[in-house]
Amino acid sequence: MRHSHCAAPQLILYNACVHIVDKENTVEQAIALAGDRVLAIGTDAEILALAGPDTRCIDAAGASVIPGINDSHCHMWEAGMLMEGIITFGIPSIAALAEEVGRRTAQMQPGEWLQGGGWIESQFSEGRMPTRHDLDPYSPNNPVVLERIFSTCCANSAALQAAGITRDTPDPAGGTIGRDENGEPNGLLFRSAKQLVRDVMPSAFGDSKFGAGHQITMAIQRAQDDFLRYGITSVMEAGVTPSMIHAYQRLRNQEQLKLRVNLMPCWHGFAINEDEDFSDRLIGELGLSSGFGDEWLRIGSLKMAIDGGLTSKTSLRTWKYVGDTTIEEFPLRLDLDRLPGWVQEAHDGDWGVGIHVMGDVAVRKAAEAIYGAYKANPGDRRHQLIHCYYVDEDVRAMMAEAGIIMAAQAAFIYNEADGYPKLLPEAQQRTFMPLRSALDAGVVVTLSTDIPSAHHNPFWGMYSAVTRKGMHGHCLGTEEAITVEEALRAMTWGGAYMSREENIKGTLEPGMLADVVLLDRSLVGIEAEAIRDVQVCMTVVGGKIAFERA
Ligand SMILES: [Zn+2]
Repeated sequence: MRHSHCAAPQLILYNACVHIVDKENTVEQAIALAGDRVLAIGTDAEILALAGPDTRCIDAAGASVIPGINDSHCHMWEAGMLMEGIITFGIPSIAALAEEVGRRTAQMQPGEWLQGGGWIESQFSEGRMPTRHDLDPYSPNNPVVLERIFSTCCANSAALQAAGITRDTPDPAGGTIGRDENGEPNGLLFRSAKQLVRDVMPSAFGDSKFGAGHQITMAIQRAQDDFLRYGITSVMEAGVTPSMIHAYQRLRNQEQLKLRVNLMPCWHGFAINEDEDFSDRLIGELGLSSGFGDEWLRIGSLKMAIDGGLTSKTSLRTWKYVGDTTIEEFPLRLDLDRLPGWVQEAHDGDWGVGIHVMGDVAVRKAAEAIYGAYKANPGDRRHQLIHCYYVDEDVRAMMAEAGIIMAAQAAFIYNEADGYPKLLPEAQQRTFMPLRSALDAGVVVTLSTDIPSAHHNPFWGMYSAVTRKGMHGHCLGTEEAITVEEALRAMTWGGAYMSREENIKGTLEPGMLADVVLLDRSLVGIEAEAIRDVQVCMTVVGGKIAFERA
């Protein structure tokens, strides 16, 4: 038995598979929690002997107990905005989506807006985008707007009418109003045309995304309650501005923060900054750096971005999409010539940087900038390449040497991979998100959800990391598959390591924070196809039960 200090535990989970998530993948039978820490792990007999009169002892019936999940790249407040409406991830058909719209509008007042998002056409068995004709029968009295994961939305007739969009409305600059064969708007609004309905929407999605502070606070609260249902006890909130930092600080002060948060201030590459100079001041004038804060709320890395998205063909790359004869030009999000200087400045100021990179060229440029900063001033900053879809072998070696973390989201495979055969050449499917190669090269990997770009069910991501399959079964090839144990480590310890907190969380050693999740089954020897069905029975944060399934 491994044991930390002497106090009666308030909670014991026994007859379990307790995953310590140490390097040896140790699994023990039982765990005891005292105060906000792990008191001991060991056999059932050893741990149950520690029970006092007030100890609650739970028979896990052989199910797994894991460290709290660390969603180390996500957008929690935006997730909260999304949760106000319909979350469309994982809905398998347009017919099912329309029925869900009907269920929701039936509970609403006439005229109230229904919003939602996260769809991509490849998730629907109909194999196409939804139109107003699909939604109208289920929403005669309510405007409905459902966002695609990128650049497009679907509005029903009531929403088009509210926005004044008719067959005579011209396409706005930089956008297209989708039309049917008769020239009538079909409800699809591409790129800047989305703004036509956003302008008339009453709340969250319609107003400026950086609206009133209380809206942000409410969104965070809504999201954190739902995250706890999925066993998420820590997040890295990627890309924050002053109003968001303020909202988190207020929740922390009011003791209403129920999970642990690292904040990643927006830096170069973000047009959405409220204040372009804000992060420069964070670096220059306040003297802050990554790690400032406590175990509930901390400052993480600076967020940067180079390229765009994979499915929108705005990834900076050397290869061509299926059917394309050229690589289309598109604007980058920052000046690549200035990137090494910015990264060096952050690195020298004790900041980590997390850089959004998708294409092989973007990954290389970011890795070279960080590697250069590291060589000029060797030091451990836990820099990250976010998404990191294509990694050449020499780049992987640089990442391993300079300690650059691959912050990946297998959740995208679950959500999008079924549509990849139409988009990605065979080789780019097989080498997409090379988790196996990264781990084998000694690169630290984290797995996160990136909600609202994918669903926040971490077990969908685990399923796809292990099987390389999308929700409808398309497999990207198994060369880059990782094991359940490796995925679990990337989902728990990985995020803790990324924020330099692996000494207090991410594993279940005695003395670590008591952030613990009880699952509905064992992960030991689990059949791969069953991973996506894993559910959370109980989530404990800091020794307190924060969620318990009825
Ligand atoms: Zn993101």
